[in-house]
Amino acid sequence: MPAEFVEALPILQKIRNAGYEAYFVGGSVRDVLLDREIHDVDIATSAYPAETKRIFEHTIDIGIEHGTVLVLENGGEYEVTTFRTEDVYVDYRRPSHVNFVRQLSEDLLRRDFTINAFALAENGDVIDLYHGLDDLENRILRAVGTPQDRFNEDALRIMRGLRFAAVLDFELASETFVAMKSHAHLLEKISIERIFIELDKLLTADFWQKGFRDLLAISAADYLPGFSDAQKLAQLLKLPEGFVFTNSVQAWGYLLHSLGYSDGKFLLKKWKVSKDFAGQVTHFLTAYQHRKAAAFSSEDLYHLGLSSLTLVEELLAAQGAETDFERICALSDALQIRERKEIVMTAGQIMTAFDIKPGPEIGELFHEIELAIVRNQLENSETAILNYVKDVRK
Ligand code: ATP
Ligand code: MG
Repeated sequence: MPAEFVEALPILQKIRNAGYEAYFVGGSVRDVLLDREIHDVDIATSAYPAETKRIFEHTIDIGIEHGTVLVLENGGEYEVTTFRTEDVYVDYRRPSHVNFVRQLSEDLLRRDFTINAFALAENGDVIDLYHGLDDLENRILRAVGTPQDRFNEDALRIMRGLRFAAVLDFELASETFVAMKSHAHLLEKISIERIFIELDKLLTADFWQKGFRDLLAISAADYLPGFSDAQKLAQLLKLPEGFVFTNSVQAWGYLLHSLGYSDGKFLLKKWKVSKDFAGQVTHFLTAYQHRKAAAFSSEDLYHLGLSSLTLVEELLAAQGAETDFERICALSDALQIRERKEIVMTAGQIMTAFDIKPGPEIGELFHEIELAIVRNQLENSETAILNYVKDVRK
C-alpha cells in the first residue's frame, strides 16, 4: 500500500472500531492499481454524516448534503463520504437527491466506470464488483451497468470517459462507445465550465491523440461551442504521433488555430475561461500566426511575452521546423523593459519637463519612446529620454 493510504489507515480503523464499514474508493484506488501517482485519497463509509462526525474530534462539513465530511486527524485532511445512491437526475447533470445507504455495493453501482468503482479494504483486499480488474488489465474503459442509462443520467461522464482514455491510454469498450455517441447531444445540457475542465485535461494528457480521436468519433464536437467543423478539428491530429502539448495555453491556442480563428477571444468567452487564460491563449495565437510569416522581433517579444514565443517555437520544433530559440533568448536578454511601467520616466514627468499640455501629443510621444526603448534605439535612462524628446521636438 502506498504511503498516502498507510497514512490514512487510522481513519478507516477508527470508523471500523465504531462499528461501521470504511474503504478507500475512487480514482486513487485505480491509480494505485495502475502504478500511477495518486492525488486525493477518498474514503467511503457506511456511517451517516452525523455518525462520522461523532467518531472524530475535528471535522468540517464540506458537502454534508452529499454525505461528505472532512476529517482532520493526525495533521491530515480526509474526505469521508457516506455510501449513497443517486435519485433521478435533473437536467442531465445533478441528481435531484442523494440517499444514504449502508451497502457498499449500492455505492459502487452509482460510479461511472468500472475502473473507478473499486473499493480497497484495510487489509489490502480489492473489492471489484464490476470486473474492473479485467478492464484494467485489458486497458478498457467501460461504463458501470447499462451505458445508455449512465450517460443519460449524467452526460458529463462522456467527457470524463474521453479524458480517462487520453490520460490512461485506454480503449473505450464498444457498448460504452456506442452509448457515448448516441448521448453526445446531451453535452449541450452540461455546464461549459465542467466540460472545459475535462477537455483541458484531455488535451494536456500524454495520450491526448487517443482521447481526441474518440471525441471526434462520437461526434461530441458538434455539441461544443465553436467546434462544429470537425474537419478543421481533425487538423490537430496531424501533429506527430506521440507529441504532447507543453501546457493548456499551447493546446488551446493550437486548437483555435486549427479551427481557423485568428482572434480567439470571442470563442473563449463562450467557453467561460478566466480572463488571464484567454489573454495567454490569444497571445500564443497571435505569436503563432506572426511566426509563420516572419521571425520574431523584440517588439513581438515585448508585446506577447517570452512564454508565448517559447510555446510557439516548441510547437514548430515538434513539427520539424527550424527553430529560433537561441536568437529569441538573446533578444530577451537584451530587452530593457518588460512592461510600460518599467520606463524610468512617466508621461507626467515628460509633460512637466517640456511643458507639454494634455492632448494627443504626449500619448504619441510616450508610445514612440516605449518603442525606441524596446528596439534598443534608446537607453532607458532619464538623460537619454530627455535628450530624445528634445531632439524629436526641435
Ligand atoms: P481524478 O484523477 O481526476 O481525481 P477520479 O476518478 O478520482 O479522477 P473524481 O472526480 O475525483 O475522479 O471522482 C472520484 C470518484 O467519484 C470517481 O472515481 C468515480 O467513482 C466517482 N465519480 C466522479 N464523478 C462521477 C460522475 N460524474 N458519475 C459517476 N461517478 C463519478
Ligand atoms: Mg479524484
